[in-house]
Amino acid sequence: MSSNADTTTTTTATGLPYDRVWNFSAGPSVLPLSVLEEVQRDLLNYKGTGMSVMEMSHRSKVYDDIINGAEATLRRVLRIPDNYAVIFMQGGGTGEFAASYLNLFACKSVRDKQRKLGRPLTCDYIVTGTWSKGGLKEVKRLGGKTNVVVDGVKAADTGTVSYSSLASVPEWNLGKPEETAFVYYCENETVHGVEMPSSLVVDAVDPSVPVICDMSSNMLSRPIDIKRFGAIIAGAQKNMGPAGVTLVIVRKDLLEREEPDTEAVLGVPSVLDWKYYASAGSMPHTPPTFAIYVCGLVFKWAEEMGLEALERLRDARAGLVYGMMDAHPEFYRG
Ligand code: PMP
Repeated sequence: MSSNADTTTTTTATGLPYDRVWNFSAGPSVLPLSVLEEVQRDLLNYKGTGMSVMEMSHRSKVYDDIINGAEATLRRVLRIPDNYAVIFMQGGGTGEFAASYLNLFACKSVRDKQRKLGRPLTCDYIVTGTWSKGGLKEVKRLGGKTNVVVDGVKAADTGTVSYSSLASVPEWNLGKPEETAFVYYCENETVHGVEMPSSLVVDAVDPSVPVICDMSSNMLSRPIDIKRFGAIIAGAQKNMGPAGVTLVIVRKDLLEREEPDTEAVLGVPSVLDWKYYASAGSMPHTPPTFAIYVCGLVFKWAEEMGLEALERLRDARAGLVYGMMDAHPEFYRG
């Protein structure tokens, strides 16, 4: 849903500075104006360095401060416990569909569990729309054993719109903890508009099984109880910054590998390897420098706003949009 305002004229019909339009794109999506203005101010000469962030070495002291500052701010904003690593990667949400599976199956505790079971562990998927289905498909593509815990599309059989409702938790087909590598879900299905209350899933899953959550389109929109998750993945381009950087927050014990370190046979490509990134401050190779810089500014903005205030804001905004849809059932289907 995007505005049809004509940006080629000098009209101020939108009432927005710079003749900007109301942009409802789910991603890449709108960034705070103050962030864009700061980027613009510093674009040609970042804080007296004589160059833009795009042009500077990722091994420079200045860039070190940028990436470390971004991580530190995010840790404060989301209250990320010390036993979680924060990693900036590339490859988007889609890259993390594969990374989630590959990294979990390279993890010592998961491999130990699998050895004990004597056959492949299952990956449990809660399917609530396009993106969780995408995650499931990726694991199938990689030859993993999957189990669909619950599938929102089935609602279509009952005559309701597919992915508009979900069976209640007692009806879910969660695997046995000793047979399950992880449980995966997408907290906000960007295409189908289903947002899960995060406690719904983490409360339903045995605490010994890591929960992997895709928060690409609701990250920074409300407080998160990070310690309930094994890993959180999120492409930046919806709520955090420009496309090109992907955030991973992962519990550090899930990065433990068998000794001696057997990277060669774990089947995790370097560019998807959480441990490889975590051990090199997200910079085992050239990171998406500019995108991380902009994310750092958005994190500062979120810190100033406060997550609770951002949650109230998003609820008010969603209320306006969904209220309008509900008021006109002859035109919209909410
Ligand atoms: N997960 C969610 C919730 C998404 O909305 C998207 C993209 N719209 C993706 C994953 C895929 O992300 P990417 O395009 O960065 O691969």
